[in-house]
Amino acid sequence: MNRDALSSSAKGLARVAARDTSASPPHDKRAADVAGLRAQFPILSRNMRGQPLVYLDNASTTQKPQRVIDAEAQLYETLNANVHRGVYELSEQATEAYVAAHEAVARFINARSAEEIVFVRNATEAINLVASSWGVEHLKRGDQILLTAMEHHSNIVPWQEVARRTGAELRWVECTADGRLDLDDLHSKLTDRVRLVAVTHVSNVLGTVNPIAEIIREAHQVGARVLVDAAQSISRLPIDVQAFDADFLVFSGHKMYGPTGIGVLFGRRELLEAMPPYIRGGDMVKTVTREQATWNDLPWKFEAGTPNIAGGVALEETIRFLSEIGMERLWAHEQALVAHALPRLRNVPGLTVLGPQARVGIFSFTMNSIHSHDLASFLDERGIAVRGGHHCAQPLLTSLGLTECARASVGLYNTAEDLNRLVSALEEAHRLLR
Ligand code: PLP
Repeated sequence: MNRDALSSSAKGLARVAARDTSASPPHDKRAADVAGLRAQFPILSRNMRGQPLVYLDNASTTQKPQRVIDAEAQLYETLNANVHRGVYELSEQATEAYVAAHEAVARFINARSAEEIVFVRNATEAINLVASSWGVEHLKRGDQILLTAMEHHSNIVPWQEVARRTGAELRWVECTADGRLDLDDLHSKLTDRVRLVAVTHVSNVLGTVNPIAEIIREAHQVGARVLVDAAQSISRLPIDVQAFDADFLVFSGHKMYGPTGIGVLFGRRELLEAMPPYIRGGDMVKTVTREQATWNDLPWKFEAGTPNIAGGVALEETIRFLSEIGMERLWAHEQALVAHALPRLRNVPGLTVLGPQARVGIFSFTMNSIHSHDLASFLDERGIAVRGGHHCAQPLLTSLGLTECARASVGLYNTAEDLNRLVSALEEAHRLLR
């Protein structure tokens, strides 16, 4: 993916913002494509509460296509051996598959090489790695870490700890009233005291897409490094770390139709090389004496102990799956769902939808004084899975004057019909629960 793809995404967002909001549902051909994709996800054929499952909790975790489930099982059936260790054929094959998975991730996000791709458990672990290694090494009293008001707890709590340990100060970029990042606030707070900007690409509550390339450009002008939390964007948008000029970028396999227990840290090579290891032990060393050790090459320096080999190999299959569909096509499908859902949700009596007009398919809402857990339970009785609560974004909810809200979030297999069922159930909730 290149700059053009990214700027066409941005144009797509602008078009959505400008579009007549009563836009019709995805046309027949696209709906037929989605039917074919849905059929690949076995869990979607389940009934829930006696009705076909409508799974709208994709921002929490996505479902897995059969081929990804098979890839994980196949590793154990045909290729299971520890990596980097054996000199026997089976171990070499397992190592090759595991290395190939890193290479596939590097191609998917356009990293310069697989040395810039570290496999971890999830986005949270990737951020902790950067915070504990880069953060503690580089930050000191007087420095500032700039976060945004829309960060997930995963991109807040590790930095609070770094601030506590180093004496660096946390500062916050606020949101506008309609749920976008306040870029004026960002400009005013981006001084040469800022050493790191930690920012989410897509808000897991508001659905906002932040202008990452622009934020990184400005941060670099004051000499700050930028960590991009791509947990919500990796499954929805083309990601190009070179076009972004990103320093660090993190995501989780399970939010992109891949397995749980595998996640990715992308780090610019020279940064990773200069960073101390995060976890120490086997595999991340070159030599060990009784007194000391020397570190292995990238990325293995950061992958101590036996890694999640099966998860890594299944993540490669996930990437193959997404690449065959094409991220532009996924983006178009999701934007069609947004155009279909947003005006209908906004018409539900008593419902307030949070976040801006231009967004991804993440819809957080409140309904009068009904608690989001009651609303989610009401929808669950109708076979519709949504999440209620604070969505691990308590500082954001506090700044919105809320403690909780409900959230429906789409995936590549959701249809206009799924969203119609959500809207009808919410209309019913308004009649019955208020
Ligand atoms: N960042 C964002 C924006 C998220 O939405 C999430 C999960 O919801 C995370 C980070 C953490 O992801 P994980 O729990 O897979 O580490």
